[in-house]
Amino acid sequence: MPCKSNDELKELVNEARKITKSGRVADYIPALGKANPNDLSIALNFPDGRCFSAGDIEKKFSLQSISKVITLALVLMDRGKEYVFERVGMEPTGDPFNSIAKLESMAPSKPLNPMINAGALAVTHMIKGESIEDRFQRLLQFVRELSGNDGIQFNQEIARSEYDTAHLNRALCYFLKQHHIIEEDVDELIDLYTKQCAIEMSCLDLARIGIVFALDGKDPQTGNQIMPAKIARICKTFMVTCGMYNASGEFAIKIGIPAKSGVAGGIMGSVPGKFGIGIFGPALDDKGNSIAGIKLLELLSKNYNLSMF
Ligand code: GLN
Repeated sequence: MPCKSNDELKELVNEARKITKSGRVADYIPALGKANPNDLSIALNFPDGRCFSAGDIEKKFSLQSISKVITLALVLMDRGKEYVFERVGMEPTGDPFNSIAKLESMAPSKPLNPMINAGALAVTHMIKGESIEDRFQRLLQFVRELSGNDGIQFNQEIARSEYDTAHLNRALCYFLKQHHIIEEDVDELIDLYTKQCAIEMSCLDLARIGIVFALDGKDPQTGNQIMPAKIARICKTFMVTCGMYNASGEFAIKIGIPAKSGVAGGIMGSVPGKFGIGIFGPALDDKGNSIAGIKLLELLSKNYNLSMF
C-alpha cells in the first residue's frame, strides 16, 4: 500500500518547519554538513498497512544514532541479555552522546548504556560474524527485514567521511580496549560502526521500523515475530530513558513516547501498540536532536494525546 500524503500532517509540517531556522546541521562529520537545513518530512505507519506522510519524503538520510537501537536488538538476539549487560549498563548518563567523562570516573569502567557512543561501540563489537563485511551484511539484512525494504544500502561517502574524522570515537574504543570491554582492532570496529551509522533510508522506511518496535517485534505485514517481544521492549525502554541523548527526560515529559534520534536529523518513534513514526529534519538543536522534528512530535503528541504516561 503506497504512503498517502495527508493534509493534517502537512499543516503540522508547515508549522514545525518555521523553527528549522533556529537549528544547525551537524558538520563534525563533514559529509553531513551538505544537508539542507530546511528539509522536513514525516511518515506514520499503522498495523493495518496504512501509511500517511507529509513534507520532503523523497529525501534519504543516514541513521546515525538511530542504528544503535537496531544493533542492540541484533546483539541481544546474538548473545543474550546477560552477556550484553555484563559489558554495557542500563542507566542514562545526563551527558552528551559522545562524552568520555564517565568511562573514567566509573569503577569498574563500563559504558553506562547502549545509546551513548561508548556503549554503542561496545554493542557493535558484539555483532556476530566471521569478518567485518559479514557482520555488516548481517546488520544490513536485519535493517532490510525491519523496514520491509530490500533496497536499503549504506551511504559510502558518509561512512568514509566519519571514518576519516572519528578521532573521539577512536579514543572511546581505545579506552574500552584498555578495560577489556572490546578486543578487536580499533580501526576495524570504527569501519563497521561508521558503515552502520551510514545506513540510509527515507522517513517511510524509518516509520516501518518504528512500527515493528511498537508492535513488540512483530512484522505488521506477515505477523512474523522479527525479534522476541522481550528484546523489542528492552529497546523501547532505552528509547524512553536515553533515546534523545541528554534531552530524554524533557522529551518524556513533553512528548511521552519511545523515540530515538540521530545527528543526521532522523527521529524514529514507536507509539506502543499503535503506530511507527519516521521523521527527517537535519537542522539540530544544541543537544543534537532534530529541532523541527521535536516540534513536530510535540504538536502530534498534543493533538492526538500520544503520551504513554
Ligand atoms: N555516527 C555518529 C557518531 O558516532 C552518531 C552520533 C549520533 O547520531 N548522535 O558521532
